[in-house]
Amino acid sequence: MFRSVRSVAVQVAKRSQVKAFTRALATAAARPSITRVSFAAPLARAPAQRIPIALTQIKPEIERRNMSTAKDENELPPRDVMEYDVVIVGAGPAGLSAAIRLKKEAAKHGLDLSVCIVEKGAEVGAHILSGNVFQPTYLDELIPDWREKGAPLDTPVRDDKFMLFTSKYAIPLPTPPSMHNEGNYIISLGQLCRWLAGEAEALGVEIYPGFAAAEVIYEKAADGTEYVAGIATGDVGIGKDGKPTENFARGMELRAKTTLFAEGARGSCSEEVMAKYGLRKTPQTYGIGLKEVWEVQPEKHKEGTVIHTIGWPAQIDNYQGSFIYHMKGNLVHIGVVIGLDYANPNINPYMELQKFKTHPTIASLLEGGRCIEYGARVVNEGGYQAIPDLTFPGGALLGCSAGFLNVPKVKGSHNAMKSGMCAADAIIDQILREGLRKENEELQAKGLPTVSEPSAPAEHVEHALAGKKLHYYYANLMSSPVIRELYEVRNVRPAFKFGFLPFLMHSAFVEYLSRGRESYTLAFDHKRDCDATVPIAEAKPIEYPKPDGKLTFPLLENLSRSGVNHEENQPSHLKIKPEKKHVPLQVSWPVYGGPESRFCPAGVYEYLDDPSQPGGKRLQINAQNCIHCKTCSIKTPDEFIKWTVPQGGGGPNYTGM
Ligand SMILES: Cc1cc2nc3c(=O)[nH]c(=O)nc-3n(C[C@H](O)[C@H](O)[C@H](O)COP(=O)(O)OP(=O)(O)OC[C@H]3O[C@@H](n4cnc5c(N)ncnc54)[C@H](O)[C@@H]3O)c2cc1C
Ligand code: SF4
Repeated sequence: MFRSVRSVAVQVAKRSQVKAFTRALATAAARPSITRVSFAAPLARAPAQRIPIALTQIKPEIERRNMSTAKDENELPPRDVMEYDVVIVGAGPAGLSAAIRLKKEAAKHGLDLSVCIVEKGAEVGAHILSGNVFQPTYLDELIPDWREKGAPLDTPVRDDKFMLFTSKYAIPLPTPPSMHNEGNYIISLGQLCRWLAGEAEALGVEIYPGFAAAEVIYEKAADGTEYVAGIATGDVGIGKDGKPTENFARGMELRAKTTLFAEGARGSCSEEVMAKYGLRKTPQTYGIGLKEVWEVQPEKHKEGTVIHTIGWPAQIDNYQGSFIYHMKGNLVHIGVVIGLDYANPNINPYMELQKFKTHPTIASLLEGGRCIEYGARVVNEGGYQAIPDLTFPGGALLGCSAGFLNVPKVKGSHNAMKSGMCAADAIIDQILREGLRKENEELQAKGLPTVSEPSAPAEHVEHALAGKKLHYYYANLMSSPVIRELYEVRNVRPAFKFGFLPFLMHSAFVEYLSRGRESYTLAFDHKRDCDATVPIAEAKPIEYPKPDGKLTFPLLENLSRSGVNHEENQPSHLKIKPEKKHVPLQVSWPVYGGPESRFCPAGVYEYLDDPSQPGGKRLQINAQNCIHCKTCSIKTPDEFIKWTVPQGGGGPNYTGM
C-alpha cells in the first residue's frame, strides 16, 4: 500500500492508482477510531484525520521535489493533470444521479464517457445532512429496481401530523396537501448517497472522497470567452503559517469537457462561477437546519410517523419550523429550520433546537433515550424566484448548488436528483445532436443523403461539449415537474414578510385554492440575509434554558456527536475577506453584538477580551470545529467570511444524517 500511496498521490499518472489511493483513504477515514473526537479535550487537540496522516507517507517523494523550500506558486512544480469527459463536484443526490444517468444513457448510445466525482467528505455521505422524508419519484426513474437492489429506504411514511406548538400545548392542524407523504420514506440521505455511490461505481464512475474542489480552472476559447475547463483539488501539507510542511503535496487538476457543480446549498465553487458569469439574477435566501438523531425507548417510537410543527419556540417574526421523523430502529430525526433572514442578532439557532426539545411533547418522547448524532447545514429558501441561470461555458449547476428546494414541502433531494438526470440527458443530447449536425454537413458537402442518427457519436464528444454550454439542460428541467413544482409554491415563503398570521392565511389560500395560479409573484424584501439583521441595541434579548446534559446539551458536547475533525496544522479555511477586514471589530461586534458567535452551530467564532485591541475585543476563529454548514458565509455582517474548502477530507463525519 505504501508504494501505491506514494506513487499515486505525488506522481498521479494513472487513474487506477488514484483509485487505489482514495479507496485506502476512505477505508481509513471510516475506521471507528478516527470518526469520533472526544470533546473532553479541546477540539484543537483532536487527533489529525487519516488523510493527512496517509500523506505523510509520501515524504521521500516530496523531498525529491524539494517542496519544503518552495515559497510561492511560481516555485511550485505544475500540478498533475487527469482528463475526463465529465467531472462532477459533490457526491450528493444531484451529483450521483447525474453520474449514474450519464453512464446508463451513454451506454445506450455506444458511448464510453469517463466520469469522475470529487467529494470533500472523507467518505460519501460524511458531509450530507438532511431531514429526510424522501420522495422516491426520481429514484424510481433512475434505478427502477432499487427495491430488489437493497436501497436503504426501509421506513415508509405511515402517518403525517402538522402541529402548532405553544410553550405547553401541541395543537393539531390539518396537514396541508403539500405535506402529505403517502408513498414517501423516512431515510438517512447520507446512507442513500453511499448506496448510490456503489451503484455509480458499478457503472464505472470514479469517485474520490476526501478530495475537495478548491479551485475552478478557466481557459480561454479562440473567441476570447472564458470557459470552465475543470477543477483543481487543493495543495495539502501547508502549515498554519501558510508555508509547506514536510507533508506537502500539490493538488491535482481534473480537467473535463463538462464540469457539473453539485456542491449543495452555498457551494464554494458554485458561488464563484455564479459571480463570474453573472448567473444570479435574484439573490438567494437561506435557512439553517440543525438536527439531532436520537435512539428512543421502543414504546415511545412510532415507526413511519412524520410530524412538522410551527410556532413555539420561534419568535413570531421568524420563519421557523421543526420536524420529528420516526425512522426504523427506534431512531428519531429531530430538527429545526430557521430562516436566515431573521432580524434579531440575539437568536441562537443551536439553542432554539435545545429549547424545542424542552416542549412537553418532545421531552416525553426523548426521555430515557440517547442522542447519537448532531449536525447542521443550510438550505436554500429562495425557491422559484431565486433559480439562477443554470449553465455557463463548460458546465452547469445541479441540485441545491442552484437551488431546487421546495420550501413548504421541505424537500429538495428528489429535485436535486432530477436536475442531475436532466443535466446528464442534456450532455447526451448535445453529443448526439452536435454529432448529427456535423455528420450531415459533411454528407451534404459530398452530395450524399443525410442521416437521422450520428453513426459514431464518440467522435463528437470533444466538439460537442468542450467549453460549451449545456443547451438542453434548462429545457429538460422545464419539461420535468421540477420547475412546475417550484412555481406552484413560489409565493408561500416570501409571503412571510407580511407577518405570521397573514402568512398562514395566504399559505392556506395557495395550498387549497389557487395552487400556483396566483396572478402575482412575490419578491423577498432584502438583498442578502445578512442585511436583515438589526443592530443589537434595537433587538429584544432572548433567554435560553441552561442545558441539563440529558435532554439538552452544551454545544461542544453535542459537537462531538458530529464527528468533526480537521487537520490542525493548516491555514484557516474560514477567511475574512481582505476588503472586509475591519468588519468584525468595527461593525459586527459593536453594532450587532457579534452574531456569528451565536449563529454558528459549532462554536467557531468567539469574541475574546483583548485590551490591546480598539474596542477591547478580538475575534478568534476555531476553524477546526467547522461542520461545513456555510451559515457564516451568508449571515456574518456584510458577508465578511469567505468559506473555502479545508485540506483533505476534514469536516463532520456524519454516519446516519
Ligand atoms: C435540516 C434539513 C432537512 C431537510 N429535509 C429534507 C427532507 O425531508 N426531504 C428532502 O427531500 N430534502 C430535505 N432537505 C434538503 C436536501 O437535503 C437537499 O435538497 C439535498 O441534499 C440537495 O442535494 P445536493 O446533491 O444538491 O446537495 P448535497 O446533498 O448538499 O450534497 C452536496 C455534496 O457535495 C459535496 N461538496 C460540496 N462542496 C464540495 C467541493 N468543493 N468539493 C467536493 N465536494 C463538495 C458535499 O460534501 C456533499 O456531499 C433538507 C435539508 C436540511 C438541511
Ligand atoms: S464556521 Fe461557518 S460553516 Fe463552519 S459551522 Fe460555523 S457557521 Fe457553519
